[in-house]
Amino acid sequence: MKIGIIGGGAAGLVCAIKSKNNDNEVIILERNPECGKKILATGNGRCNYWNNNQDLLHYESSTPNQISGLINEKTEKYVQDFFDEIGIIPKIKNGCYYPNSNQSLTIRNVLIEEVLDKKVKIKNNYLVKNIQLKHNKFLINNELLFDKIVLSTGSFAAPKTGSTGIGYDFLKQFNHHLRKPLPALVPLITKNYLFLKKWQGIRTDAKVTLIENGNILKEEVGEIQLTNYGISGICIFNLSNKVARGLAEKKEEIIKIDFLPTIDNQKLDKILNKNKSIKRILDCLLNAKLVEIILEEANLKQELWSSLEYNKKKKLIELLKSFKVEVVATKTFEEAQVTSGGVYLEEINLDTMESKIIPNLYIIGELLDLTGDCGGYNLGIAWRSGIVAGMTIGEAND
Ligand SMILES: Cc1cc2nc3c(=O)[nH]c(=O)nc-3n(C[C@H](O)[C@H](O)[C@H](O)COP(=O)(O)OP(=O)(O)OC[C@H]3O[C@@H](n4cnc5c(N)ncnc54)[C@H](O)[C@@H]3O)c2cc1C
Repeated sequence: MKIGIIGGGAAGLVCAIKSKNNDNEVIILERNPECGKKILATGNGRCNYWNNNQDLLHYESSTPNQISGLINEKTEKYVQDFFDEIGIIPKIKNGCYYPNSNQSLTIRNVLIEEVLDKKVKIKNNYLVKNIQLKHNKFLINNELLFDKIVLSTGSFAAPKTGSTGIGYDFLKQFNHHLRKPLPALVPLITKNYLFLKKWQGIRTDAKVTLIENGNILKEEVGEIQLTNYGISGICIFNLSNKVARGLAEKKEEIIKIDFLPTIDNQKLDKILNKNKSIKRILDCLLNAKLVEIILEEANLKQELWSSLEYNKKKKLIELLKSFKVEVVATKTFEEAQVTSGGVYLEEINLDTMESKIIPNLYIIGELLDLTGDCGGYNLGIAWRSGIVAGMTIGEAND
């Protein structure tokens, strides 16, 4: 039995390791000079490869009832056993797993070493351009014939790492259906507000709320980055998937920012009600540039809180606790960490990752219509789906 793994990224590498047995030949076809280029970029070079909190709320798909078919305790154990077996020692921070070395290189290199130890072959610099079905076998680039293939080409996100979206074309060719792929875990572009130039470069803690057509969809707390085009940061990334899908449906997407998430309105009223100017008080609470913007928007200078009439007070509190910006677009796939959308989960047997349409075709990793939050969830999808497909292939008899 000859197995072709198309794409040597996170999902493809673990799938190859698990697929290999004494009787089969497993070959990874990778377009880059080396495998796992994207892994190196993960977690700011530290590779946040897993998360303790596996609540399904951290995952998104157009068919939410399918998610638990892959994200479940069984596959969680597979992943934990796998990393244990290959010798990765985790360093866990706020539930996020990193290799103890703090280097993505560790994960990437250990996976490649494991692949080579298992006698899996790697063909680097090999771009798969076409796949044809010939008498129930798969003919690749008119020269390589396989009994089974695994599509692990990744998505459109971060194309510099090798994932240019070609896997979606192969899926369509095999009569699979796709939920439109859109950039996710990506910065958001707002309307061209005058204050953007001024707030560029500010990093601040905040609570951000996504309001779509007037309805609250999701809330996140953490650091945000204010930029000359809009907003960024991990909490914004975690809202971006829903924003991208909403914008595609022409919905209004508002982000409400609470710049003082740990201070409620009553406490804020007390803090502001000191015998000092509002500016002086806010300067002690927030980034100075942000204070300038808020005072400008509130049309205030050096006033005391006690001197303000009701509407002015209300406006200032709104700016501090409910600063609203309208999102008009997301940044592109070049800046996205992942792609939302992909092949519908119903078209795949999630116990094996085999296509329900084409036998002996396996689909794994980011090609799936399954996206996770920031924090190790997306690599988690790659590991889980890669291990499930690999175990199925490795345990199959010729
Ligand atoms: C900057 C950045 C930071 C990230 N940080 C994290 C993080 O800390 N934690 C986390 O969980 N997730 C993170 N992610 C997301 C995570 O990296 C991806 O979800 C994951 O790598 C997807 O795995 P994959 O195997 O499906 O695809 P990929 O890792 O993209 O692998 C696909 C492979 O297929 C190859 N390929 C594509 N087409 C062909 C072809 N036609 N022929 C041959 N080879 C081909 C590519 O070269 C590539 O090597 C991050 C992503 C980015 C961009």
